[in-house]
Amino acid sequence: MKNTPIQLFDTKSRTLQAVQISNGKTLRIYSCGPTVYRDAHVGNMRTFLLGDLITRLAKFLNYEIKFIQNITDVGHMSEDFVEDKMLAQAKAESKDPYEIARIYESRFHNDLSSLNITKATSYPKASESISLMHDLITKLIETEHAYVGGDNCVYFSAQSFLGYGAISGNRLDALKPGHRFEYTEDGAKKFHADWALWKAAAGRSEMIWESPWGKGFPGWHIECSAMSLHYLDKFVDIHLGGIDLRFPHHENERAQSNSAINNEAVALWVHGEHLLFEGRKMAKSTGNVVLVADLIAKHLDPLSLRLCFLENQYRSQMDLSWDSLKAAHLLIQRWRDKTKIWAGSKEIDTKQAQVFIDEILSNFLDDLDTPRALQKLRSIEKAETLSDGVKYEIFETVDQLFGLDLLKPSIGKGELSPEVQTLLDQRQSARNNGDFAESDRLRELLLEKGVSVRDSKDGQNWEWLI
Ligand code: AMP
Ligand code: ZN
Repeated sequence: MKNTPIQLFDTKSRTLQAVQISNGKTLRIYSCGPTVYRDAHVGNMRTFLLGDLITRLAKFLNYEIKFIQNITDVGHMSEDFVEDKMLAQAKAESKDPYEIARIYESRFHNDLSSLNITKATSYPKASESISLMHDLITKLIETEHAYVGGDNCVYFSAQSFLGYGAISGNRLDALKPGHRFEYTEDGAKKFHADWALWKAAAGRSEMIWESPWGKGFPGWHIECSAMSLHYLDKFVDIHLGGIDLRFPHHENERAQSNSAINNEAVALWVHGEHLLFEGRKMAKSTGNVVLVADLIAKHLDPLSLRLCFLENQYRSQMDLSWDSLKAAHLLIQRWRDKTKIWAGSKEIDTKQAQVFIDEILSNFLDDLDTPRALQKLRSIEKAETLSDGVKYEIFETVDQLFGLDLLKPSIGKGELSPEVQTLLDQRQSARNNGDFAESDRLRELLLEKGVSVRDSKDGQNWEWLI
């Protein structure tokens, strides 16, 4: 079983492909990382989980892995191409753009760790990789894949790359002039679908660098080419990102990278489908954004989000809701309670356990079919023919793949933070003193903390709202 390859769906060939370690030694994975101008929402986290599922699986198979995820802290323009997202947020928060970047980068790492997402080998920052981009752009100019435009920006010549459009199906001849996929000064580009690799500073004064083409800043697409080629030694076995990045980001990255090395730079392009929340697209503009911090504030185990993601295969669009998160939270608690009971059992049949472990592993190998793997876990939990010891053995082993901390103690009903305990104590004494206004105020405060309080003749009883 451990010799069976991982199969993943490759967007470019539109087929399932076996993952190959092209250099025979280390599996090289690249994932487009966050643009650190705001907190990552749970939709972003679904895409980031994809890298974790693949690396956990690869580690389970004893592969050596190098996994690079970039941090975009410059060059990602707003939807209307008017402003750099970093600078717009720096202005909104009256902070230095680098400070904004470091704040949200650190929160991104906290969110990853709340979801048990294993760390990448490294997280190079775009702002610290400018010279890599200069080298790459110079090479593209020398090989006539790029040129300096009339506005002193450097553009990639889309027509110089013959395979353009293979990932997204967007053919160059069908991309109309005026199609707003890249901002530009009128007349500066030679062809309407060319895009900027280096943008002249023009009036901009922050986050700009000297370059052979004058002061300016990099385009978003060149960042990923420069970092993936450099850190992964000119070849990527698996390239990851959300489905929205297929075009233009990945299409342009492929054109740049392949032109620079005169070869195919990526074996598999793997994309995660989007997450909806309660039926709607997750977008700041519509106010429909949920963060990992929102789950924690509701006393939901953040791993309930991970479990909800696993209930859906990464290639299908999924709809998340508070109800599904609550159900997932309770299921994790139940499984943890069960493993605690099973842990004491001495009836261990390793061979029998291995059969079930292999079945679950084969679901993961089959294009990360996590819904089927979870179905199996549910039936193992209930199976009367399996001893507690075998169940424990299976749960312990496959948790390396699921990453749900199934052997951790569940949160006991009686566990309260010291802060909530103090509020409960204060409320009890307010009631004892007949101060019902204060007791009502404290009840409201406790509700905000996710604790519901009811009074009985024996005193106050509390329970979590979920
Ligand atoms: P950003 O920080 O906006 O550059 O996005 C980081 C990653 O999250 C990218 O790979 C996006 O494709 C992905 N992404 C954005 N929105 C969603 C969503 N609603 N569901 C899943 N992935 C998303
Ligand atoms: Zn990227």
